[in-house]
Amino acid sequence: MPDILSAPVVNQVAETDAPLTSAVAPELVLCRYCDLLQHLPALQDGEEADCSRCGHELDARQRESALRPILYAMSALFMLVLTNLFPFVGMDAAGSHRDMTFLDTSAVLLDEDYPWLAVLVWLFIQAIPAICMVAIIYLKLGMFYRLPALVQVARLLYALKPWSMVDIFLMGLLVSFVKLLTHFELSLGMSFWAFCGFCLLHLRTFQVVDRHELWSRIAPPPQPVGAAEAGETGLSQQLKVCQCCTALVPLQETRCSRCGSKVRARIPSSVQKTLALLVTASILYIPANLLTMMETVSLGDSIESTIISGIVLMWADGAYPVAIVVLLASVVVPIVKILVMFWLCYLTTLPLAERSKHGTWIYPLVDWIGRWSMVDVLVVAILAALVRFDSLVGVYPGAATLVFAAVVIVTMLAAMSFDPRLLWDPSPAEMEQQRDEQRGTGEHS
Ligand SMILES: [Zn+2]
Ligand SMILES: [Zn+2]
Repeated sequence: MPDILSAPVVNQVAETDAPLTSAVAPELVLCRYCDLLQHLPALQDGEEADCSRCGHELDARQRESALRPILYAMSALFMLVLTNLFPFVGMDAAGSHRDMTFLDTSAVLLDEDYPWLAVLVWLFIQAIPAICMVAIIYLKLGMFYRLPALVQVARLLYALKPWSMVDIFLMGLLVSFVKLLTHFELSLGMSFWAFCGFCLLHLRTFQVVDRHELWSRIAPPPQPVGAAEAGETGLSQQLKVCQCCTALVPLQETRCSRCGSKVRARIPSSVQKTLALLVTASILYIPANLLTMMETVSLGDSIESTIISGIVLMWADGAYPVAIVVLLASVVVPIVKILVMFWLCYLTTLPLAERSKHGTWIYPLVDWIGRWSMVDVLVVAILAALVRFDSLVGVYPGAATLVFAAVVIVTMLAAMSFDPRLLWDPSPAEMEQQRDEQRGTGEHS
């Protein structure tokens, strides 16, 4: 047997709140990224266990008590309510003053015939994060009071989580404010600080909820039948991992017996799907750059700017930091991401040692930067919503915002379609070679 991963299993006893099910038996976990089966070591509070092959996090034990996530989530929701009650930002220009509330950002866009932008902003910034917080409170309370539909709520939570973009919106706000400061006098209202609080509490709530532990308490993980061995891949032992609840599922079953999600050993035609989405994103990226990103009306003058000309204008105005941030978020990140994803697809054709070496660091990076390219779409939405001084001064989003949002979303979908386990799976020829070597050493599995 390979000598990797034979850490002894010590059971982690559930902490303060009474679990619905008895504590978990010694547990085998399958890495969601590289498909290696391994023992989950006993974790102390605040410790995390990483995959010994690809380094991806397997589980992290939280220092916080079971009550903390509820308190964080409730505080976050309270901050979100405050965010909607008070003036968000005040602006002075051309002798007039204007206060905007947070909801105005969506309302103005709706009034001005940009319903898609309004819906997008409202969903990503308010609706989805709020649903996630309510779901966490429900799940944590549900474990005490045995509420119904915990499995469905937990599934919803993890399906929505990637689309909660509060932190990105905050970044977008900061960029917009720096942009605006060159033309207007700004005053930050109560709601702005409440929103910062919401953003921090929302991130913290997700941090203190451990997916593996949460699911173990909702329902016990189904035990693999037969003797599964740590240090071997799941596929070679007729096992696959549920991406939603981390349970081990026998290869022949199509759905996870714990959460009911569809489970696939590998994403079918992963590389083809990813390539198709990448080509789509690359094609869309052309009009995103050629069309108008935003139109700035200032005292009768109207300037239409594309992404690039906007950056050039900002640079000429001396707003170097904003120009650099926008350049990174709208030009460098999308291009680099698309190129890196193409390269990932190419990697899958290389020999095993070669591709797994690069895959370890490149795939998590791609995953992470994808969301951040959304900043620019949000900046235009924020500017459009904030800057409305009658017909004399205003910022209007152009067609490019919609196309650019599509580029970001299609690239995110491309990253989701790519199966990182392809970087670790031996090809049929390599499998044959491994079998020959095993036969040579007299070992048979
Ligand atoms: Zn791994
Ligand atoms: Zn599951």
